[in-house]
Amino acid sequence: MTAHLIGYEIACNGPTGQNDCPDSAAVRASFTSRTAAAVRADGRRQGWTRPPGRDLCPACTAKEPTR
Ligand SMILES: [Zn+2]
Repeated sequence: MTAHLIGYEIACNGPTGQNDCPDSAAVRASFTSRTAAAVRADGRRQGWTRPPGRDLCPACTAKEPTR
């Protein structure tokens, strides 16, 4: 088995922004994503969104009140 460096993990901050995501979701980082920005770009492709100060997985994005 080959160990690969995992650059960054972006976790969902949950509906309230208190890291209480019911899905305990995290962005599945692509093999080539080694920076937070790159991982977030992966997340956007997977349906993640970034309200100010938070990262939301697709499930929490769906629950987020539209403003
Ligand atoms: Zn979530």
